[in-house]
Amino acid sequence: MKRLLTLLVAMSAVTTAWSQKQAAVFDHVEPPFWWTGMKNQSLQILLHNSKANVSEYTLSVNYPGVSLTSARKVENPHYLFLTLSISPDTKPGSVPLMFTAGKKKFEYRYELKPKPAASPLPTVNASDVMYLLMPDRFANGDVKNDTVPGMHLAAHRSIAESRHGGDLKGIGDHLDYFQDLGVTALWLNPVLMSNQPLLKITWDGGSMVIDPTYHGYTITDLYQVDPRLGSNEQYRQLIEQCHSRGLKVIKDMVLNHIGTEHWLVKDLPEKDWLHQFPSFTRSNFRGSAMTDPYRSKEDVSKMNEGWFDTDKPDLNQKNPLLATYLIQNSIWWVAYAGLDGIRMDTYPYPDKEFMAVWARTMSEEFPELYLLGEVWISAVPTTAYWQKGMINRDGYQSYLPSVTDFSLQGAIPQALGEQAGYDTGLARLYFLLSQDFIYHDANNLVTFLDNHDLTRFANQVGKDPAKFRMGIAFLLTTRGIPQLYYGTELQMEGDASSHPDIRRDFPGGWKEDKASAFTREGRTKDQNDIFEFTRNLLQWRKHQPVFNGGKLVHYVPENNVYVYFRSKDYHRVMVILNGNEKEIILNTDRFRESMGDAVKAHEVISKRELADLKSITIGPRSAMILELN
Ligand code: CA
Repeated sequence: MKRLLTLLVAMSAVTTAWSQKQAAVFDHVEPPFWWTGMKNQSLQILLHNSKANVSEYTLSVNYPGVSLTSARKVENPHYLFLTLSISPDTKPGSVPLMFTAGKKKFEYRYELKPKPAASPLPTVNASDVMYLLMPDRFANGDVKNDTVPGMHLAAHRSIAESRHGGDLKGIGDHLDYFQDLGVTALWLNPVLMSNQPLLKITWDGGSMVIDPTYHGYTITDLYQVDPRLGSNEQYRQLIEQCHSRGLKVIKDMVLNHIGTEHWLVKDLPEKDWLHQFPSFTRSNFRGSAMTDPYRSKEDVSKMNEGWFDTDKPDLNQKNPLLATYLIQNSIWWVAYAGLDGIRMDTYPYPDKEFMAVWARTMSEEFPELYLLGEVWISAVPTTAYWQKGMINRDGYQSYLPSVTDFSLQGAIPQALGEQAGYDTGLARLYFLLSQDFIYHDANNLVTFLDNHDLTRFANQVGKDPAKFRMGIAFLLTTRGIPQLYYGTELQMEGDASSHPDIRRDFPGGWKEDKASAFTREGRTKDQNDIFEFTRNLLQWRKHQPVFNGGKLVHYVPENNVYVYFRSKDYHRVMVILNGNEKEIILNTDRFRESMGDAVKAHEVISKRELADLKSITIGPRSAMILELN
């Protein structure tokens, strides 16, 4: 990739005597190109050559509509940071940047493309269901990219913590599957270059080499898709294909840290682009320190500035050049790929003022763009703190519309597994949701049973299929934007005490797999039962107006039976969860205010018609979803 970039740079440079002698003018020009017609008219361009004094050049620009605001030198002479101002009437084209240092002169042409088209699909909202998948673990569509010369490791499927060869082609090959299942948005774990050295693990009598970056969270180039997954162009095309099928795409991004092998780390523009310590200092992973009224500066700085891991140096977003570099990188990907949304990793870890500027800038540039932040804290007020619209007593204003709901995720398996009491059993769900008053917009939280970091839901509920179904039924009918994790529709198992265990390969994603869970014939009976259960609800949910901004009314659970209603206009859906081991006959008098004059109903799970709603019989440990007529 680097060679290709160098070649392109060399080709676009005018062949002055100087530039002919220099094979490469710059190792890195970032962003590599930009667009006209953007709302933010300012553009910062990073120029880098690891072997030359780039900072000695003065610069001129002669292009209608484009002016040079500044050319800034930094500590490291290998860098120059240009800021251009691009007026709204600027025509697309290649902008000649003239560099001069004494007798040395050369021209670099920087491309301004026509304003890109945004996603044709509406903004992600609670009528969507997201499907999260780990690209390396989903499907291997192209075995040729399993080994890429110059990259650290070939795919090695027999090693759990290694690359397995899944790729973008594999995802694109299964768009029918997503549509058939009924999900409406894909969230892919990070797809950018993540090329860190391998680790050798040894034990008595053996050793093996693992790739600690198969998950994609140790990024070593913020402008390149990892070639083992595909190319930038393939990524762009995959999103285009998804859009043509009504599937939205959400990009997983990380601004808290990069990998030690990132070229920036090896030749830092300024020392303070990273938080550096006399000896390795890890984050305290205490997101609560960011909101705690009694916080010490010590705890906040450990949280914000400590490294996520030895291979993940912590970025200092207080450096203004870095802050702009990171924000522009996000803008570049949305514009380049036509993204529907961004899921931001470790949201409370970077400088929080920076995150507010990031989210505000992204929303200003792309008003339809969906932004989700990972706030892995199981506490309602702490989650609420990070959502846009929340009035925080410390004055912090967040611009993040959507936040992960870890409180609800933790409550679901507890509610299904424990002895029922005043505030335990299904009453736990009732109590938790009763705290929603604190949220600016609880319906814009992302709800989930499991994800790439959590024990799979099957294991959370002791591999009990009845509890599993109740969890799915609740997730897909309560408030919020549901997110499913790949394989949960098959009741895939795995325990988070070993990360690879919760990131097993999707069965059938590899040619050599004995059976393919992508097809009915390839699924076992158990897999197919839960698949059909989930698909039925997802397909029904897609066309149910009550989930698109509909109201939620719930009733205090009695005898471990939880009843709630979703409604919008004349559409009404009644959900009954029975947490008991025995059948219950439910007298519905108490729910009249929500049932209105409904006398019959269609039950979505069994597809039965109910002619009498005065009393409803619900089986042990099960859910009923009634469309009221
Ligand atoms: Ca592959």
